[in-house]
This record gives sequence, structure tokens and C-alpha cells, in this order.
Amino acid sequence: MTETFLGLPTTAPRGVGHLRGDRSFPAAAREALSDSQLRHNLAHATSTIRAKRARVVGEVDDWEPLRLAGEAIKTATMARLDEHLLTLEAAVTARGGVVHWARDANEANGIVTELVQATGETEVVKVKSMATQEIGLNEALAEAGIAAYETDLAELIVQLGDDQPSHILVPAIHRNRAEIREIFLREMPGVPRDLTDDPPALAEAARRHLRAKFLSAKVAVSGANFGIAETGTLLVVESEGNGRMCLTLPETLITVMGVEKLLPTWRDLEVFLQLLPRSSTGERMNPYTSAWTGVTPGDGPQAFHLVLLDNGRSAALADEVGRSALHCIRCSACLNVCPVYERTGGHAYGSVYPGPIGAVLSPQLTGVQDNASLPYASSLCGACFDVCPVRIDIPSILVDLRRRHVEETAAGGRVPSGEQVVMAAAAWVMSDVGRWRRAGRAGRLGRLLARRRGQIGTLPPPLSGWTTSRDLPAPPEETFRDWWARTRAPGR
Ligand code: SF4
Repeated sequence: MTETFLGLPTTAPRGVGHLRGDRSFPAAAREALSDSQLRHNLAHATSTIRAKRARVVGEVDDWEPLRLAGEAIKTATMARLDEHLLTLEAAVTARGGVVHWARDANEANGIVTELVQATGETEVVKVKSMATQEIGLNEALAEAGIAAYETDLAELIVQLGDDQPSHILVPAIHRNRAEIREIFLREMPGVPRDLTDDPPALAEAARRHLRAKFLSAKVAVSGANFGIAETGTLLVVESEGNGRMCLTLPETLITVMGVEKLLPTWRDLEVFLQLLPRSSTGERMNPYTSAWTGVTPGDGPQAFHLVLLDNGRSAALADEVGRSALHCIRCSACLNVCPVYERTGGHAYGSVYPGPIGAVLSPQLTGVQDNASLPYASSLCGACFDVCPVRIDIPSILVDLRRRHVEETAAGGRVPSGEQVVMAAAAWVMSDVGRWRRAGRAGRLGRLLARRRGQIGTLPPPLSGWTTSRDLPAPPEETFRDWWARTRAPGR
């Protein structure tokens, strides 16, 4: 398969990093659902963030116009993304930065590894970057003998716990403070043995641990929330100050940014700096917004490299329905309202991008067959669309991805699933009025399976997949058609 990257032919993404799920969502979700501590942690954290977000969003009179503006800016930007990217490249270069283009995870990892090796350093500090998680950069650096230290508190907890992030904004949302204390005592050198699980005590331990890293690191790797094409400025929005330390103290700064993070002008940023903090942390304004443009002599890193990452994005951009997933500003509001995410957590999605946005983004970046179960990991309730600050219609994309999965499976000659057999049979019955009428009458036999209270307990396979987790009411004694004919038909 060939795709385009700035109009150039490219190969399909190689080395998609952590985007490809190893297990199907239902299998992973079943395991997560049996962990009552995990469910308690998730329910507590998501309901807290939900309430904070609702409160601060409710204060903004023009919230809906802001959402519309965010959507419009993103749509217009994506329509001319190639031009804006070239403008960004020219502006970064003019201010002393170096721009690198990476078609996929392998290329991006290779570029960053060579850049670090050229400095002679074997350690880097990192400020939270989903793009580097997406490409598996830490693992690639480790293979080259380079240690990467996460500096965001939650990322640090995940890294020390040899764990995976389970939330976009709060990667350690699945951990409670007793578990965090245990991880620190086990993995953090020099931590006081009488460390309590009091949040300020845990934060202080992390601060001391990280400060030593900040002061010794010569190279930092960052992501970017936004890139401003007109001036070549990159921005990181964060709450802990670790980003500011990473972006100012080291001698070399390497930023890995997905190409979709670009905005044409500073004026566009005004909208997103209002939408993002309220939607993500439930704050009116985030504590730290760091912006840098190329290299400034005598101030901050003296070498700056920007790696622009495609990794399946141009393929997603080519999809008329799915391309709006690239508008995502990674606020995580859709995760916090999703009834599926709230019960399973992020690990069940098997992808660096969890929750509703992961269910639409990951299959598009890897190809639907590589994350085939994710588009089904939704009740289609629409809560994600309602809260999304850039109005991504996630339910519609999910439905379209399901269609693509069904069609690709059929076209590829793969063995149809039980569900597909049932759906094909249902389509055959429903496409003929006589068959539909006879099926309705035959369905009354289902009453024989009903237990007390009019519920059918279990259906035989493949229909058992439905009754395992849902109530199925027994069919009524009379079909709707028969009732209509008896009570409303002309001449009665
Ligand atoms: S899809 Fe919308 S709500 Fe979800 S993380 Fe992205 S911007 Fe936020």
C-alpha cells in the first residue's frame, strides 16, 4: 500500500510502536473488569475530573462558539496541512532549528537516536509526549544504550512501575497512592524509608529525584501540544513545571511532534488555550505554557531539532470520515465521560491512545485490521462527542470504522465471525416482507426459552455472545404486524 506524505509516495507505516493491540479489546476488558481495585480507582478519578470540567466549562458563556471555532480552525488547517508544514519548516530553520521528517516510527526513532548519539550523551530527560510513546522511543533508545527518564510525575510512576500509561492526561490513573508509595520505595534510589502515602510527601520524593536528573541532563526530548507555522514556535502545556525544566536547562532539545499538531497562526492558539485546560484538567488556565522558537544565543538549549512525525497520519487525512480524528488536542475529556473506559481503564485498549479517541485514532494509524476490536469498544452513547472541545464526531467515525472492518474482512476472504453470520442472516430476512413476517411469528417460539420475569437467560452460540452480558426480554405473544392488523387495519 502506498500513502502520501506531503504529496510524496511513501510506504505503509513500519514499526508502528505501541499503536498495535496485542490482544483483542474484549479479552483484555474481561481481565480489567475482574480487578475491583482498578475499577474503584478509575471510577473515583474519572468522576472527580468530570465534575471539575463540568464546573469550569459551565462558567464560559461562549463555550459552544469556542468549540465551533476550534473545529473550524482544525478543519481549515488540515485542508492545507502540506503548505502549513512547509511554512513551519522554513520558520524553524530561519531561527536556527533543524527540521527532520519521519514517515514512521522506525524513521523517527532512528533520527532521535542518532541525534542523541551525536552529543555523546547516554541519558535524556523527557517531558510527556504521546508521540514518543506512540513510536516506542524509550525502548529504541534503550537498545542503543541511552536511558530516557520521564519527568512528568504520572509518567515517572508508570516508568518506575514498569507499567504502561492508562490515560492520556493521568497516565497512572489506575494506581492509588498506596501503590505509588510502594513503587517509590522499591524503585527510587535514596527515597526515605518512612515515606508515607500522603500526596505532598510523594510529590516531594519525586521532586527530589527529578531535580538531580534535570540538573545533570544535557539532552531533553519533548513532545508539543501545538506548533505555530507562521513563526516556527513550539508549545508545551503542562501543570508541574517539569516541562519548563526540560525545555530550558539542557544544551540540546529534540521535539517529536505529530504533523497534525500544527496551527497556522498565533491567533488560532487563542481558541485552543481556552478549550484545552478546561477540558483536560478542569482548570481555567494551565499553570505552565512554555513556548520556544528555534535557538536563542545564550538562553536555553543551543541546539534544537524538530522531528515531524507522520506514522499513518497522512493515510488518516485521506479518509473523508475519519480525518477529523486528527483534530484531537489530547484533552482526555472523552475518556472521562466514556462508560466503557470508566470500567475497563486504558490498558484494555492495548494502544497508547486509549478511550474513545484511541478507538478511532489507533485503527486509522495502523490500518483497521490491526486494531479491529477497538471500533466496537463503545456503546455509541455519544457522550464523547458532547464533551469534545473540537467537536469530533467519534460515534460516527466508530460506525464507519466498523463498516470498513466488515467490508475488508469480507473482501480479504477471512472466515466470517459468528456475529457476521448472524448479521448476514438478519439482512436476508429483513430484506423480504414475507420472510420478515414469518420470522416474527417464529420468534414467538422464543417464549419457550423465557424464565420467570419474562427474560431469556441464555441463547445458544453464536447468539450467546449477546446474552452473556445483556438481558433479553421474551418476545411478546403477538407480533407488531399482527397487533396492527387486528386493531388498526382499514375496515376495522
Ligand atoms: S477526541 Fe476530543 S475529547 Fe477526546 S481527547 Fe481528543 S480533543 Fe479531547
